Amino acid sequence: MTMGLMQDGPLLISTLIEHASRFHKDAEIVSRTCEGPVHRCTYGDISRRAKQVANALAELGVRPGDRVATLAWNGYRHMELYYGVSGSGAVLHTINPRLFPEQIEYIANHAEDQFLFFDLTFVPLIEKLAPLMKTVKGFVLMTDRSHMPECAIPGLLCYEELVGRQSSEYEWPVFDENTASSLCYTSGTTGNPKGVLYSHRSSVLHSFSACSADVLGLGAKDSALLIVPMFHVNAWGMPYAGAMCGARLVMPGPALDGKSVYELMRDEKVTLALGVPTVWLMLFQHVDANRLVPRDDLCVERVVIGGSAAPRAMCEKFETQFGAFVVHAWGMTEMSPLGTVCNLLPKHKDYSLDQRLNLQVKQGRAIYGVDMKITDDEGNRLPHDGKAFGHLMVRGPWVTKGYLKGEGGEILDAEGFFDTGDVATIDPDGYMQITDRAKDVIKSGGEWISSIDLENAAVGHPAVAEAAVIGVAHAKWQERPLLIVVRKSGQELTREEMLGFLDGKVARWWLPEDVVFVDDLPHTATGKLQKMKLRELFRDYRFPEN
Ligand code: AMP
Repeated sequence: MTMGLMQDGPLLISTLIEHASRFHKDAEIVSRTCEGPVHRCTYGDISRRAKQVANALAELGVRPGDRVATLAWNGYRHMELYYGVSGSGAVLHTINPRLFPEQIEYIANHAEDQFLFFDLTFVPLIEKLAPLMKTVKGFVLMTDRSHMPECAIPGLLCYEELVGRQSSEYEWPVFDENTASSLCYTSGTTGNPKGVLYSHRSSVLHSFSACSADVLGLGAKDSALLIVPMFHVNAWGMPYAGAMCGARLVMPGPALDGKSVYELMRDEKVTLALGVPTVWLMLFQHVDANRLVPRDDLCVERVVIGGSAAPRAMCEKFETQFGAFVVHAWGMTEMSPLGTVCNLLPKHKDYSLDQRLNLQVKQGRAIYGVDMKITDDEGNRLPHDGKAFGHLMVRGPWVTKGYLKGEGGEILDAEGFFDTGDVATIDPDGYMQITDRAKDVIKSGGEWISSIDLENAAVGHPAVAEAAVIGVAHAKWQERPLLIVVRKSGQELTREEMLGFLDGKVARWWLPEDVVFVDDLPHTATGKLQKMKLRELFRDYRFPEN
């Protein structure tokens, strides 16, 4: 072998902010703050302040590899920590505040967090949890002196004082690119949450991918609204990718209601918005209730939807009322998170809106860097014919090879693929479509029924706000689908009307055995339907004819 004569250099997260501070130093980071006002700064400012954070960490005695935790919304101080903590060689542990307090306590102890930086919103929570976080040596409230509350957190530090007194002179250390950079726990729908430990290399490679045209196409031209939280898979990697390309980033802070999101989109001339379906439903409710005309008010071009399936009706509404193209994406905490993105191929150029929407509900094609297969229960590869569904397996340089502290044991198959726990089809063009979580799939008469397909079809009805489908035991068919529906407020809808609407939209034998109406559905900390909880709630349910 002859080695190439190219220079080598580790792919470090600090190189992203260094680049942004030189070549995009005036591009803005706009944040709605917990204190109230909208704050504006630039990549130049973030770079300076991240160096002050690094100096503050040195003053606190934080060493390379130590875990520094955050419990914070999307905002500029959180971004300073992203770069200050990881850039200095420590590990940024972003904690999801929507987890149960016992889970937060568990993961802070499991990760052996040394310091915790948190937003004003979480003062009451930390007052309770501080004595239980055994390894945490200090708590830092991410605000200035004038907002420091009277509270029962011993030795509480003020972020602006701690960081403000530091020099902004700091030389980012250079180390192995495979060094751990950040840590995020899975949302733990089964058992305890497990830690996914990202590296500098995986984060930088993932950023290259996010910026490329047929992935998310993030660029300096964009004003990108990060509704997706920085405590969940690094806000889909956007704080890193943004610095790589100089995108303007707009951070909503704690205000995720429809009105706040709409106003931020309008006032900050957002071109690209990223979030899970539930936040978009809140946005739609605001638009409908106030008879707004988004096409006139907003200039959003693309909306990236992931985390749960993007319903067809949602893609359609963004297209027709907002003039925005929905970029449906799929991934997971274990994948940094991007795995597939649903962009169009040249052959789809002349598709009608209807045909295009049929494609857009698919989760999309594997992006470069992610290798993908579907297998049967024995691990045999299944054909990519758009019909066969099987376990979706992935491998690649931003896919995890094991959980923190070896939890869950060996998680790769003999070929190095990670089992995503999702069940999917892949069509001959490579478009993957999730048909279920492996544990949620409905097994009826030896065949599988996709609960997600049924849910998507049900939310297409104008009176349906949200829908969930679970498998319920059935004497003859082993399991049959039960559709659970939340009606839009003030709307009428009967079981028969619902079933009539679904007839013809899904295979006959997939039609739900029954429909029940509820006021709301349980969600996980990351906004996904909590099927386990639903199955528990409907444990005693029996189908009418059973
Ligand atoms: P998390 O690790 O919390 O981000 O959850 C990852 C899981 O969310 C995936 O394994 C899927 O089950 C689900 N998910 C993510 N994106 C999508 C999507 N576009 N459509 C359907 N399910 C999705």
